[in-house]
Amino acid sequence: MSYNLKNIHEDLPLVKRGTTFSCLRCGRCCKFEVVISESELKIIEEKYPKKINELERIRKYNQISRGLYSLLFSTEKCSECIFLKNNLCTIHNYKPALCKLYPFFPLPLNVFSSLYTLNLKDLIVLESKKNGKRYIISYDKNCPGIGKGSSEPNWSYLVDLQ
Ligand code: SF4
Ligand code: SF4
Repeated sequence: MSYNLKNIHEDLPLVKRGTTFSCLRCGRCCKFEVVISESELKIIEEKYPKKINELERIRKYNQISRGLYSLLFSTEKCSECIFLKNNLCTIHNYKPALCKLYPFFPLPLNVFSSLYTLNLKDLIVLESKKNGKRYIISYDKNCPGIGKGSSEPNWSYLVDLQ
């Protein structure tokens, strides 16, 4: 068995065994638009009403589908998340799941194994305790923390966050 190099390695990087990660606190990922659920939005609104009111005034919310919002946590004066301070997240306990997952993105194995030839013995494959489904993990190859540090992340934690 082999990877489909064109489709997998060039377009969709997948986490292999031995992949290390250490966040370099560069703040790069806090300059993106973040997709959050309605319940995540509600929690942040309750905890940080002043900040959220400021964003509502400048219409940074766009409802993109039922129950999901695309939220750019920035103001017109500042292009990075309003919750970022000295390159650290100040709402760590309440930050959206996407922020907690980043730079990793669990993908359902059944979907991707039907599209690609995957050498599973080299890949991290996780089973969710919540739904019993198996996942492989993609990542943002532009994150400079990938391959840094000396240990692998807690992969199980990633699927249980979903
Ligand atoms: S881009 Fe990567 S290294 Fe930089 S802050 Fe985000 S997770 Fe950390
Ligand atoms: S909520 Fe925190 S982790 Fe997410 S973009 Fe803002 S500062 Fe970054």
